[in-house]
Amino acid sequence: MKKSRRVMRRAILSALYSHLQDAYGLEIAEESFVQAQMSIQDIDALLAFKSDPRLDELRSALDRLERGTFGQCLACKGSIDQDLLEADPTQRFCSSCERFYSQAMARELHLSVSSVQ
Ligand SMILES: [Zn+2]
Repeated sequence: MKKSRRVMRRAILSALYSHLQDAYGLEIAEESFVQAQMSIQDIDALLAFKSDPRLDELRSALDRLERGTFGQCLACKGSIDQDLLEADPTQRFCSSCERFYSQAMARELHLSVSSVQ
């Protein structure tokens, strides 16, 4: 778990970097950004005043990593598949909860659409 924590931190920082690069044009190289021993406070300072949902997601993924709840499904508290986390470190649900909630959401949307008509 210790090793994968480091790997995931890297993955999150790297996603954070590419997003910042795309949206705000960073002046520093990716390696120095990812390798820098930035604390949550440093990252907060960097992200201050940027209201951007993707940044918020990545920020809270880092937060979960610090608090040791990273990789835990928000709904059932089970563990989220490593594959899912590697594909998207901001994943907050395990695959079965994800499926359940997206279906529930689809039903809800369908209901509200049909009640409007
Ligand atoms: Zn779950």
